[in-house]
Amino acid sequence: MWLEKKGRIIKLIGGLYTVIDEEKKRYVIKPLGVFRYKNIQPKVGDLVKFNDDSITEIYPRNNELYRPMVANIDQALLVNSAKKPDFSFLLLDKFLALIEANEIEPIIIITKVDLMTEMELVNLKEKLSYYERFFKVIYFSSKTKVGVEDILAITKNKVNVLSGQTGAGKSTLLNTIDPSLNIETNEISKALGRGKHTTRHVELISFGEGFIADTPGFSKLEFVDFKSDQLKFYYPDFFAMSSACKFYECTHIHEPGCAIKNAVKNGDILKERYENYQFIYNEIKSQKPVYRRDEK
Ligand code: ZN
Repeated sequence: MWLEKKGRIIKLIGGLYTVIDEEKKRYVIKPLGVFRYKNIQPKVGDLVKFNDDSITEIYPRNNELYRPMVANIDQALLVNSAKKPDFSFLLLDKFLALIEANEIEPIIIITKVDLMTEMELVNLKEKLSYYERFFKVIYFSSKTKVGVEDILAITKNKVNVLSGQTGAGKSTLLNTIDPSLNIETNEISKALGRGKHTTRHVELISFGEGFIADTPGFSKLEFVDFKSDQLKFYYPDFFAMSSACKFYECTHIHEPGCAIKNAVKNGDILKERYENYQFIYNEIKSQKPVYRRDEK
């Protein structure tokens, strides 16, 4: 019988899609030909209707990434090391803006907290308490296992993508949370698909009780997709206050009557966060313009 079921695409290789249903049964099928005529390509992460033979319908997407080609990502696990390499607020702010720009919820994870002295950790936590008003922050150590339960809970039933700089401890984190993954340290790109496969291979891998995309989503810090005056939209803490700026299109850089600059002055916005904003703003501004087809 052509019984229609609902499921999620978790793998694409050589034009064949693996769909997992609500009972976690897997089907390897093709999309109906009509998708090709309509120039619609089902993506890994898509929620679909399907039968034993074909994908018949794609549900509307919440979001989609192009590298990796994954749709409906619930959140990005933004991995930052406390030490080795040293924690960097500038890197954190850059990644946060990139993830926000893709309409994905960032989860800030601080790894290797066991390498910090008690005092260093207290200082870091104090500054990050500002971020905790707007983002979820989890402290993690593969040694002491602090944070394991929190990460398992937050990734449950979610599609996750991994981000953060090289050496931040992404593969160690994955292995600690789910030892069945057995990823070699520093081999994350290879183990999770890059290099090993062509870009046509994308997969969601079971991770705890959720999924993780098989390629890092935001490992490169490229701000090619937006202009400097858009940056402010990706700061939820600024955005909340910006209606009080004198000018509607205030970039919070040089305009008079700026509510954000006032908030920095009286301590409602973390000073370093604002300074990093200025830095990133200028960095984007000084980038060479990228030719885009949709620009007139
Ligand atoms: Zn302003």
